[in-house]
Amino acid sequence: MTTRGETYTTTFMKRSHDIKKYFSPAETQRLVSELGNCLERYYRECQEQKGRTVPELTPETYIRMAGEALNSGKESDFATLASMALANGHHLHDPRYMGHQVPPAVPAAALFDVLGRAANQGAAVFEMAPFGTSAERAVVHELGKLIGWEPGKFAGIGTHGGTLANVTALLAARNIRYGNSWKSGLGMDGGLKPAIMTSADSHYCIARACGILGIGTSQLVKVPVDARRRMDLNKAGEILATARERGLDIFAIVGSACTTPTGSFDDLAGIAALARKHSLWFHVDGAHGASFLFSDKHKHLLAGINQADSIAWDAHKMLFVPALSTYLFYRDARHSWQAFAQDAPYLFDPDDPSGMAEFDGGLRTFECTKGALSLGLWGIWSLYGKDFIASLIERAMDTTLAFRDLIEQSPDFQAAHDPQCNILCFRYLPEEGVVDADALSQLNQSIRNRLVAEGNWYITGTRLDGQYWLRVTIINPLTGTTHLHGLLEAIRNLATVHSGNNFRPPVT
Ligand SMILES: *Cc1c(COP(=O)(O)O)cnc(C)c1O
Repeated sequence: MTTRGETYTTTFMKRSHDIKKYFSPAETQRLVSELGNCLERYYRECQEQKGRTVPELTPETYIRMAGEALNSGKESDFATLASMALANGHHLHDPRYMGHQVPPAVPAAALFDVLGRAANQGAAVFEMAPFGTSAERAVVHELGKLIGWEPGKFAGIGTHGGTLANVTALLAARNIRYGNSWKSGLGMDGGLKPAIMTSADSHYCIARACGILGIGTSQLVKVPVDARRRMDLNKAGEILATARERGLDIFAIVGSACTTPTGSFDDLAGIAALARKHSLWFHVDGAHGASFLFSDKHKHLLAGINQADSIAWDAHKMLFVPALSTYLFYRDARHSWQAFAQDAPYLFDPDDPSGMAEFDGGLRTFECTKGALSLGLWGIWSLYGKDFIASLIERAMDTTLAFRDLIEQSPDFQAAHDPQCNILCFRYLPEEGVVDADALSQLNQSIRNRLVAEGNWYITGTRLDGQYWLRVTIINPLTGTTHLHGLLEAIRNLATVHSGNNFRPPVT
């Protein structure tokens, strides 16, 4: 039996001894070298396609495994835990990964990110992350030049994700259009309801923004898409001409560069002209596609982006850095102060004579504590150059076009659209036996589910006008033509094994 006091003393003594060890530089060095070994094996096995791309989707197994580690009661070794996390994750660095718009990050970018984590730099306040915030400013300066804007006039801030960047831009637009709304809430404006316009294929976060900003999702006016699944500008013009009669005060228009289902780029110059004519805030959701500005070959996709009032741009997609790393741009720097009207003088004081508020991102972002989310991009840009990043983008495009050609040459496959970027929807089309549209949808959906269950190949699927299509994002720079052939062969095998001549949708 011990008294409470004794227990406390013993524990305290033991822990205080251990604490030093856990912060010891030598121990850190040992862990980093173990990490190096784990990552060497991980990337090698991914590239050699040693295992599955996507592990079995059995949450119970992983939750149990993770829970057992928490409760093992003894100190586990770092390599075992790190390998467990890597092996049972999704292997984006396997060239058979062609799924979502999340890239296999350039390894060096991840390692630069580690610096921000290791030193825990809080980049919302300059004082807390002098170099992290400065790297952000330097990157913003260069990205703004790619947009075509004059340094000194525009503003850009790092934020955690495109969703947050989009809602922040629309919040600024709302506050500027309805001057009292930040303080008094959003009311009716002269009997009209505030509304936002976007294409039917825009990302769901635009609808979310309407819900969050008090505009209401019913006041998100969705313009139908044209044959290439871009916002139909004739219809947009008609809707704008009659909006007020329908009780709507459309104050902002969101162009997609590009849309997520098919990678379609809206005609940004055309939208800019409409925005000017009707005095609308013009926001570009460039989460995926703004990065094409890096490529002289493909930047034409974004013609007109320089006329936007605000732009959301994810670096964690087509700039190949780890999530989350996003930039929100305003053409007029003054607008960047209007999303939030926060008063927190202990953190950032706009009236402080030092003038540091300009460098404190926190006044202009949702986040209070914010990561040093530019270190990855700043690191690979500085280390390997801008052309290296452009080459990753062009490689993804080239491989996507090769895939399109391969599909065109394969009578048992069909593309839904000509790819505008590295997203392509397609489907398997049985050569024999006429299959009606619904059965075709079911067949392709079951192919996708079986493909993921097998785990070798990873692709996604989407619905276009009610029909199910397989969907790839060619985003792994190591994916080559042999993999494209391999994917189609795997799909053929699944389709024939499971359908035979009389296709019946398998139970999924
Ligand atoms: C990915 C994406 C988003 C969402 O961005 P997150 O960074 O995932 O929050 C929004 N819009 C488009 C067009 C996207 O591609």
